[in-house]
Formats: sequence, structure tokens, C-alpha cells
Amino acid sequence: MGKWMVVKDQDNDDHDQRSTSNLSAHTQKNKVIAQGINVYVGDSGGIGSANASFNGILADSDDVDDKPTLSPEQQAQVDAEFAAAGGVDTGAPSDTTQGSGGQGSNVICGNVPSYPADNYQLSPNFNLGQLSSKCIFPYRVASQCGLSLPEVVCNLKALCTNVLEPLKARYPNGFRINSGFRRGSGRSQHYRGMAADIQWAGLANSEYLTRAQWIRDHLPFDQLIMEHGRSIWIHVSFKRGGPQRGQVLTMIRNDYRPGLKLYY
Ligand SMILES: [Zn+2]
Repeated sequence: MGKWMVVKDQDNDDHDQRSTSNLSAHTQKNKVIAQGINVYVGDSGGIGSANASFNGILADSDDVDDKPTLSPEQQAQVDAEFAAAGGVDTGAPSDTTQGSGGQGSNVICGNVPSYPADNYQLSPNFNLGQLSSKCIFPYRVASQCGLSLPEVVCNLKALCTNVLEPLKARYPNGFRINSGFRRGSGRSQHYRGMAADIQWAGLANSEYLTRAQWIRDHLPFDQLIMEHGRSIWIHVSFKRGGPQRGQVLTMIRNDYRPGLKLYY
């Protein structure tokens, strides 16, 4: 098997581009914790960052403390697998790299307030706080990346309506948004209110592949990434007004490659 291809896509998650000053206290705590454990240090330089030598940690910055982490046995197995493969990819991912859920629907944003409160409703089951200041990695919504605050909020509405609502309806138990909107300037769709990172509390790692496949086959999305850090989470984005690329990727060690694959 060849070495991992690094997909330098402008909308890939760029957790590692967050400067230290931008990190939440929670993330900084994670960073400290991560220094004490065995993590993958990417050999590719990831998607380009001053933190490249440590990107195994910062790429994991969406990881949280209170979710299932690898047991020592699982970690040893993963380490052995990578060592046996010379530290490179151990197998081909699924060859299905395109979503089949279509383009989704546009949303009517109406008059979004200039300064909407956390309880401003984005969709029947999600309010603004749940996608911003109340996330595991919290950021208060703001105008940035050339978008007005109402435009960012409208993007979040489209994401909630087209992706998060049907996803939560299908898999409600333990559904959690680790990260939605983020402050910062860069390529990530999180900065534009177009992306969310999803975990389910207590869910076995093996179930993430099934759920990512379900998203791929049923929901409209711009980008779907099964992300491997200290745990697994699903990054999914929706581009209001489209077109949705339906791009399906797996990320591990800050490398991105087409298709879905479960690594641990
Ligand atoms: Zn993400």
C-alpha cells in the first residue's frame, strides 16, 4: 500500500491551524493531557502548520476528555499495526468516495437578529448556543471570513436543517456536537458556520463507520470526514446554496484520504 495521500482541500478541517491563543481552556487542557500519552506524530506535515511536528496532538484538539478513549490494549494494537506497516497506511478505504444524499434544501433565514441570543432557534431541535457557545469547544458566533453574523447564523441553520436534524433523528442517543462554529480565519468550514463535529457519548468506535456510511448514503453534505484522534468523531459540513461536493474522507494522523475506513 502506498503512503497516505494528503488532500490539501481548502475546506478540510484545520484544527491544527488554531493558534494557542485561540484554544479554549478545555482544548489547552487536552493538549497538556495529550503530552503524556502516546500519539501519532504525522510524518506528512499534515495540512501545513507550525505545529506540524506535534500535529498528532493539535489535530486531536476536538477530542474531549469525557468520551471513550483507546484502552491501553487498543492503543498497543494500533501502534503495532502501524509499526508493522512501516508507519504507513495499512489498507485501502472504502472505494465509495461520493455521497449519494443529494443537494439538500435551502433554508429561509428570515430576519436573523444582529446579536442573536444562545436560545435563538436554528431548527426544531437546535439553538444557536448548541452550535457555538455551548459546544464542548465553545466559541461565540461572530462576523468573520467575509461573512456577516446573520450569514454565519444562516449557514448554521442550513447545516442543522439538512444534516444535524435528520442525523439526530436517526441516532439520538448520546448525540453531541463537540464543535460547531469556531472563531478564526482559515480554510475550515467551521469558521463559516458550515461544519460540525459529532460524537455520541459512550458509542463504540466500531459504530462510527456504520454511522458515517449512513450519512454518506442518506444525507446531503459538502464534506464528510471520519476523523481519528484520541477517539473518533465525524466532521460533516453543508454549504448553504450549494453545490454540495459530497466529498467523503477519512482523517488519521492529520492525513486525509478518500473514502471511509475505521482504524480503531
Ligand atoms: Zn470538524
